[in-house]
Amino acid sequence: MKISIIGSGYVGLVTGACFSELGNKVICADNDIKKINKLKQGIIPIYEPGLEELIARNVKNKRLIFTSSIKEAVRSSEIIFIAVGTPPLENGEADLTGIENVARSIAVNMHGYRLIVEKSTVPVETGDWVRHTIAHYIKDKAKFDVASNPEFLREGSAIDDFMHPDRIVIGVESKKARDLLVELYRPFKVPLVITNIKSAELIKHASNAFLATKISFINAVSQICDKVGADVEEVAKGMGLDKRIGPSFLKAGIGYGGSCFPKDLDAFVHISEKIGYDFKILKAVARANEEQLHSALKKIKDALWIIKDKTIGILGLAFKPNTDDLRNAPALGLIRMLQEEGARIKVYDPQAVNKAKKVLAKVTVCPDAYSVCRAADCLFIATEWDEFKELDFVKIKKLLKRPLIIDGRNLYDPQVLRKLGFAYIGIGRKRA
Ligand code: NAD
Repeated sequence: MKISIIGSGYVGLVTGACFSELGNKVICADNDIKKINKLKQGIIPIYEPGLEELIARNVKNKRLIFTSSIKEAVRSSEIIFIAVGTPPLENGEADLTGIENVARSIAVNMHGYRLIVEKSTVPVETGDWVRHTIAHYIKDKAKFDVASNPEFLREGSAIDDFMHPDRIVIGVESKKARDLLVELYRPFKVPLVITNIKSAELIKHASNAFLATKISFINAVSQICDKVGADVEEVAKGMGLDKRIGPSFLKAGIGYGGSCFPKDLDAFVHISEKIGYDFKILKAVARANEEQLHSALKKIKDALWIIKDKTIGILGLAFKPNTDDLRNAPALGLIRMLQEEGARIKVYDPQAVNKAKKVLAKVTVCPDAYSVCRAADCLFIATEWDEFKELDFVKIKKLLKRPLIIDGRNLYDPQVLRKLGFAYIGIGRKRA
């Protein structure tokens, strides 16, 4: 099939590359000309395992091309996915300017039937707005359908998630739209949830909000564990073995971040309010997430007493492992709070250091984990990269000014580190 993806970011590039791998002819478009020029030269602007090879193979086989011309993309494809960003406005509402711009560009450039698919995460009823916008601006009186096909991939495992999803959600309102999307997704042997557009839009917001709720829930439990000396890892294990609950997203830490959960939760609260429902549960989830970071800061303060002029080594910056994405990364929030208290910060992240140099001021960015430890007053784990599991702690103990590890991701076994002579503080872990 001939497909265009408008918006070539994390979601757009992965979607485009995977659809081309399945034999479709795909055009990935973006209004960022620099990004498109890089992609044309084979430079992938984001780090995502396996993406570079996948793109190279499909470009070589002439199934995948890049363009900065939305017109070219719209003219050449019957199915057009919108995968532009939907960032938050100041008040938490989703900024749908990009979606509206693309809808207008599609309207003025389409000739003949087009299926316009929302891939971006959007509030319920956006599909209606897209349909009205196209109807208002359309030049040629061509027929078109709008559909919703929310994306559930996770950065860091995006290709595998795209190729092997738990389910595919398709929101459609015509037989033609349904047939086209069912045909496109035929190679995927997974359940298709076919519904109307509004339900599909809601499935995405509700899923992300529910996952964020699970994280805030276990983080709240970790607070209780800290107070009574229980172990949240054991509590989570005991809960997660219950099939009704399940083990995933029950990992206590310094809170969720990234480009999706915080913004999608806020957008869901906002759209709910707009249509007359006060989503109190989700407001509490967001508040608990903020509190978790403040609680991490308190742990550092409680351990070091005075923060001013202390050197804090931070391992991990990305909001989670296997990505270089720093959007809403809890590590950045923590660093800013520590700097406000006068701390000196040293950081290392296996992938995000280059991006970090652009967004962090007055931070020593180190080439490896051991350089972070050298002469630091404490070591803080902010992202659970595999690489950090394999560190030589005998060496680290010699490098640190003081053998203190505050493990914001419960990456280590407290017993092992304590045996090596470290003061170990986790999130909701049993005391020494
Ligand atoms: P991104 O910022 O990485 O990419 C968005 C791209 O859209 C950028 O390259 C930008 O230049 C381009 N763009 C913006 N306005 C445009 C316009 N008018 N015309 C053409 N291109 C335009 O964002 P992302 O992480 O890929 O997310 C895209 C959408 O998918 C968001 O709604 C997000 O919530 C959703 N989503 C993201 C993830 C994720 O893990 N990143 C997962 C599922 C869903």
